[in-house]
Amino acid sequence: MSNDEQRRSWAEPYKIKMVEPVRIPSEQEREEAIRDAGYNTFLLQSRDVYIDLLTDSGTSAMSDQQWAGMMLGDESYAGSRNFYHLQDAVRHFYGYDFVVPTHQGRGAEHIISKLMIEEGDYIPGNMYFTTTKLHQELAGGTFVDVIIDEAHDPQSEHPFKANVDVGKLSDLINEVGADRIPYVSIATAVNMAGGQPISLSNLKEVRELTQHHGIPIIHDMTRVAENAYFIKTREDEYSNWSIAEIVREICRHTDGATMSAKKDALVNIGGFLAMNDKELFERARNMCVVYEGLHTYGGMAGRDMEALAIGISESVDEDHIHARVGQVQYLGEKIMDAGVPVVHPIGSHGVFLDAKRFLPHLDQDELPAQALAAELYVDSGVRSMERGFVSAGRDKDTDENIHPELELVRLTIPRRVYTQAHMDVVAESVEAVYDRREEIGGLEFVYEPEYLRFFQSRFEKINQQA
Ligand SMILES: *Cc1c(COP(=O)(O)O)cnc(C)c1O
Repeated sequence: MSNDEQRRSWAEPYKIKMVEPVRIPSEQEREEAIRDAGYNTFLLQSRDVYIDLLTDSGTSAMSDQQWAGMMLGDESYAGSRNFYHLQDAVRHFYGYDFVVPTHQGRGAEHIISKLMIEEGDYIPGNMYFTTTKLHQELAGGTFVDVIIDEAHDPQSEHPFKANVDVGKLSDLINEVGADRIPYVSIATAVNMAGGQPISLSNLKEVRELTQHHGIPIIHDMTRVAENAYFIKTREDEYSNWSIAEIVREICRHTDGATMSAKKDALVNIGGFLAMNDKELFERARNMCVVYEGLHTYGGMAGRDMEALAIGISESVDEDHIHARVGQVQYLGEKIMDAGVPVVHPIGSHGVFLDAKRFLPHLDQDELPAQALAAELYVDSGVRSMERGFVSAGRDKDTDENIHPELELVRLTIPRRVYTQAHMDVVAESVEAVYDRREEIGGLEFVYEPEYLRFFQSRFEKINQQA
């Protein structure tokens, strides 16, 4: 890139042709809404939200091509032509031989966990994801975190914080034996670490070790294109590769994948399980008919599969991924420049506020991240999500609360939805809340459901029950 090019601004590689008006609720409305929601942003009604950064899941704006594809939905019960288009896209862009469509990512996780995990097995992974880990546990397995230590340190500038600590993985294999490890679970752009990437050189090392022991790798490819962008910009060897080439290269070093198409793949619903092993595929598509739907739709309408097939090809477009990750970096730099503690480096899909350093006067048991997410909403109507103590849940054997190192609030950016001006409003709100951080008190549980408690728990302010 020449110096002249570097000085130029870039903009989104699209223009807007349809808008959805949003409402800005008053401060009083926001205070009432968050109280009614039990201080859980998942329980707010979207009509009470101004800028919705709860999640990047299923919240992308589809392109005109995808909407046109929706009109080509072939809603035949069996053998819909849209399924074959999807299958072609998975083979072409990801290189996996076989695909089983599912209603979303956790449907694929359910099937693969049930098929591969036996009671007493261990599943190493580069940090847990909520639904992934739960399905592993429900199948009788135990998740073991083998991510590098830097991933648990929000201030570490390591460029590939999702890398596997090969020593930890090797120790586990020696300790429990390769036959107790049905697969290694490798996520790209690790969500819980702050949208941090794994490098290709690390993946290849993991591949070498696991192949030696005959252990397959199952890839959580939910954000594979975003991970590929960081490889292209941070791993010298790949700077001249296209995003599409890097994505295929990542997939080539794994044996199968679960996909939540609601993220990278630019659709509002959908997912799949993919693999190269024909026998495993036959069993997976048989299980698909039990839990998801026939093996040529798996819980999706034909039109959903068509939009997904098109979304996959758009997701690896260079200009798209540059603008997508670039917008997240823009917000992150603005918030960092204001001196607000965030997870470094800024991740692929969101900016993660470091609630432990943001609210140092609160104990982790006083739920600083949950309290901060609620306060941010009250300030501006911006909805974010807790990723800390509440999300980590309880130990499956002792039932004790887990105290994760990372206590974060995630500002997750939907793809192709918001403008730079929205990002400015968000950054200013975070700054305003940071300025009065000492006034923010803690929360306590008043209702805690059994599974994935962060979705439905309710809270009250500590010492404030009337
Ligand atoms: C969202 C997500 C899932 C689960 O997918 P759903 O489509 O929400 O069921 C799995 N893994 C990761 C990394 C995710 O972000």
